[in-house]
Amino acid sequence: PQNDEGEPQPKAEAGDEKLRPQRLGEIVGQRAVAERLSIALSAARKRNEPLPHILFDGPPGLGKTTFASVLHNELGVELNLTSGASLDKKMDVMPYLTNASEGSILFIDEIHRLPRAVEEFIYPVMEDFRVDVVLGEGMSARTINLPLKKFTIIGATTRSGMLSAPLRERFHMHEHLEFYDADDLARIININAAKLRTTVTPDAAWELASRSRGTPRIANARLRWVRDYAVACADGEINLAIARDALDMQEIDSEGMDKQDRRYLETLIRVFKGGPTGVEALAATMTISLDTIRDEVEPFLLRREFVVRTPRGRVATSAAYRHLGLVEPEPEPD
Ligand code: ADP
Repeated sequence: PQNDEGEPQPKAEAGDEKLRPQRLGEIVGQRAVAERLSIALSAARKRNEPLPHILFDGPPGLGKTTFASVLHNELGVELNLTSGASLDKKMDVMPYLTNASEGSILFIDEIHRLPRAVEEFIYPVMEDFRVDVVLGEGMSARTINLPLKKFTIIGATTRSGMLSAPLRERFHMHEHLEFYDADDLARIININAAKLRTTVTPDAAWELASRSRGTPRIANARLRWVRDYAVACADGEINLAIARDALDMQEIDSEGMDKQDRRYLETLIRVFKGGPTGVEALAATMTISLDTIRDEVEPFLLRREFVVRTPRGRVATSAAYRHLGLVEPEPEPD
């Protein structure tokens, strides 16, 4: 992801690694996904074969990388990480393919960013563990098939709709990650508070959970902030009053929305009269990148039904007006 200045943003919060579950049993929520993966793991172990290729999709921070790293821990195999955005040419991906050890996992984040030529190059890899390399040019050019070790590709994407059908079909398992409910996030907060050696009261954990936009990565970041606030402003224990003050100070509202989320709704309502309007116009008016809006801002607002997508563009719902304390205009007579 790029920020306003076009600088690449760090994908994960520093210290995410420390809080990442290590085994499948430590994963909170996403029960159906975890159960299917557990079956795949057990079959791979019994047959002594690599895992099938798996595609994870869903908004950022919901656990795509976590699942991949848990699978690698469970199998005790090598894990290599790369990103579609950094694989410009066939030769960029080649070392990952030829160095892959038997049964290992290659995690390709943002796989929707793979250029078409690279994508086509990995089709035979995913089908029968070989790459076709063209040697020489013109009349003397010839293709050689290079056999590879049997390994697993795990792809992650925030935009499964951008994936070409042939690439999507080459993944044997498609797992969609959904936002977490507050119960699950409260469990994650309690587990991670212990890992961070901090005490959080049950009502404070619940407050944090319900103000974390259904996203474990955001819950972790907010937990760290509240912990610092508790140390700086009180005796270090996170109670309800501390959690509320700390989140209010960051301008996080009762829905867990931050300034950027509210600016999106305010722009849609004030500038575009509630819509419908195209997402490009919204991004341009807010001067933030289209990717940030599509990947980070909108999924939660759509999920909470503050915004709906129509063929003519985004429309703010009554819930959005209510949340911002604005009066919804009467519909114009036809
Ligand atoms: P993604 O790859 O989807 O952007 P990550 O896998 O990096 O998201 O998740 C971000 C952080 O959220 C992880 O480091 C981990 O601490 C936490 N997390 C994600 N999913 C879970 C889960 N199911 N249970 C517990 N913690 C989770």
